[in-house]
Amino acid sequence: MRSSNSSSITPADSGATETFAELLARVQACTVCAAQLPHPPRPILRASPTARLLIVGQAPGRRVHETGIPWNDPSGDLLRQWLGMTREQFYDVSRIAIVPTGLCYPGTVKGSDLPPRPECAPLWHPPLRAAMPGIRLTLLIGAYAQAYHLGKRRGRTLADTVHAWRDFAPDSFPLPHPSPRNRQWFKRHPWFEQEVLPALRERVGAVLATGDNGNVNNQA
Ligand code: SF4
Repeated sequence: MRSSNSSSITPADSGATETFAELLARVQACTVCAAQLPHPPRPILRASPTARLLIVGQAPGRRVHETGIPWNDPSGDLLRQWLGMTREQFYDVSRIAIVPTGLCYPGTVKGSDLPPRPECAPLWHPPLRAAMPGIRLTLLIGAYAQAYHLGKRRGRTLADTVHAWRDFAPDSFPLPHPSPRNRQWFKRHPWFEQEVLPALRERVGAVLATGDNGNVNNQA
């Protein structure tokens, strides 16, 4: 887990002043669903109070769990390609926060990753988001992130949600998971590469370069 400084925040549940570093320490020490995890809890996230872009994915896979670095796998390589970012730019925690829907590796069944633990996002996303007031855009990557953050606003299918990306601007941007396993999905939905990725790069570039909140009408 990485953070850039220790500015003061006020946690909603206690009313006491807590520094950003103290909040991250609480996250790091979490054992709420330890009994359901295949390994001792290892929350993996990157956050700082100055971040402007928030990336919400699913949950760490085995390789990410072992290295402690989020998106340190082929999915991360494709995500960086989508965003047009180097690893150095992607892991600049002062500007980009990475907080998955489930912070710990949930394990696998028959070779597929299990869903994020349902306890996690309701517990940690609200205080972490409140402690990052500079966030101007949240990338919601995959069905679990979209289910938690969009709720009933999401479409009937993931494709419906992603295709309707303009409906969630300027705060959120839904994306499919950049897993190599989803190659067929990308082939079946050519509009994603042709239409959505250029808009994504433009929106992310605007948020990180200028710090303003952008205007979706400029992207349509
Ligand atoms: S998955 Fe989330 S709720 Fe469960 S132990 Fe890890 S940080 Fe805590």
